[in-house]
Amino acid sequence: MGKPTGFLEIARKDQVDQDPKSRVKHWQEFHEKMPKKDIESQAARCMDCGVPFCHNGVQLSSGASGCPINNLIPDWNDMLYRDQWEEALKLLLKTNNFPEFTGRVCPAPCEGSCVLGINEPPVTIKNHEYSIIENAFAKGWIKANPPKTRSGKTVAIIGSGPAGLAAADELNKLGHTVTVFERDDRAGGLLMYGIPNMKLDKWQVVDRRIQLMKDEGIEFKTGIEIGKDISFQELKLQNDSVIIATGSTLPRDLPVPGREGKGIHFAMDFLRLNTKSLLDSELKDGKYINAAGKKVVVIGGGDTGTDCVATSLRHKCESVTQLEILPRPADERTADNPWPEFPLVYSLDYGQEEAKAIQGEDPRQYLMMTKSFDLNDQGEVTGLNVVEIEWIEQNGRKIPQEVRGTEKKIEADMVLLAMGFIGPEREAFQEIEFDKQGNITAEYGKYVTNEQGVFAAGDCRRGQSLVVWAINEGREAAAVCNDYISNL
Ligand code: FAD
Repeated sequence: MGKPTGFLEIARKDQVDQDPKSRVKHWQEFHEKMPKKDIESQAARCMDCGVPFCHNGVQLSSGASGCPINNLIPDWNDMLYRDQWEEALKLLLKTNNFPEFTGRVCPAPCEGSCVLGINEPPVTIKNHEYSIIENAFAKGWIKANPPKTRSGKTVAIIGSGPAGLAAADELNKLGHTVTVFERDDRAGGLLMYGIPNMKLDKWQVVDRRIQLMKDEGIEFKTGIEIGKDISFQELKLQNDSVIIATGSTLPRDLPVPGREGKGIHFAMDFLRLNTKSLLDSELKDGKYINAAGKKVVVIGGGDTGTDCVATSLRHKCESVTQLEILPRPADERTADNPWPEFPLVYSLDYGQEEAKAIQGEDPRQYLMMTKSFDLNDQGEVTGLNVVEIEWIEQNGRKIPQEVRGTEKKIEADMVLLAMGFIGPEREAFQEIEFDKQGNITAEYGKYVTNEQGVFAAGDCRRGQSLVVWAINEGREAAAVCNDYISNL
């Protein structure tokens, strides 16, 4: 249970980040590694609370509460406190195939439901996960461990995001022959071409894991699109089972007057091209959408929008504004968002922290709706016409209503649409059933589609979500797929 007087004596200490004004000058990760002794003492703050909620992943109305992959957090915290890092690693790898991803990008619902968090700052669980895995890589404890025997059964996985990777890892460990098909030129899904390099390093972190998986016998076929290069039916015939893990890739559009203007882009076009050019040529090939010197407006206040803010700042944009349609969250938990729900409280994510350091204030403007875009004679965007809204209740649903007299113009010569995703692409999967939300029909926990031997996992099944849920679904779908092929 860690140190009996742990949290009474030791205050929460977070990872130190590089100063925002310096880190926007580069594309590298910017968290300083915490010394081992500090991690061990932070782990002592975890006090065997009796009924821990941190590892109990459930989906509540406010989002995930507790760890969706059920990381055995109190146990590995105790091991860290006792300097048993190798044991902590073994325990962590039992539940999480890729702690180096979640240790960097997870919003940490575990910390939101930490019992200590009821009246004190919660345990720094995410940093412990990150430290366990990075220490293990540094010590050479992570080595390729291919299965001793092969089952002779084959599985094709479509999509190499965290759901596809987790499913591939699990099935390969069970001895099945796994091939991952990815239409992009590099594997990793949104880990590679969505989340920017400064949040999750591609060379040292994503590629390191893909290489390990290759060394363990998984075949990656990149640059192959199912539905174009190989048909889905062909893939089914060639394999004992197929797992679809194609993500939620259709962006939500904003069909208002002026949308066709030059300089208005979907966020993923902006982010994907930037990372590809960075990896191919350190941005020397110029094959990306450059925000340098531009007045950028990002529409959407989520993770994707934040990544657009941070990327624009690194291009040296003239200014960046982020429009959010929801209200500014409260500074503290509100009565309708109690512990152990995910805390919906105001905070500055890395991109906003950087914008504030450079521009003097949080770039977000809340309760803003865009009515139209202004274009010049060349068809280039020059601004947005926006209006403030309020959310009113109608027939049990909250709907936005314009507040009269609040119309205003915001100057812009680049607009990035980061308003989420409406579901997976369908063309390649004509035989597969989709639900009313536009996702692949397959029950959570079962992952079975209408086609025999075909399973679906991750954002293509649940809609846009988190890396940790994708890993959860990939792991569980692999277990169901294993049952299916083992009985063939
Ligand atoms: P994806 O990661 O989307 O991978 C699907 C893959 O399938 C893609 O590589 C795609 O090219 C491939 N594919 C699709 N169709 C085909 C086909 N026909 N043939 C072959 N390949 C195909 N989550 C967090 O937890 N933390 C974050 O900080 C975070 N930041 C984000 C930032 C951005 C910009 C975005 C867009 C999302 C972010 N998310 C974050 C969400 C997270 O990345 C996703 O929930 C997660 O990656 C979903 O995993 P997945 O495996 O289901 O799909």
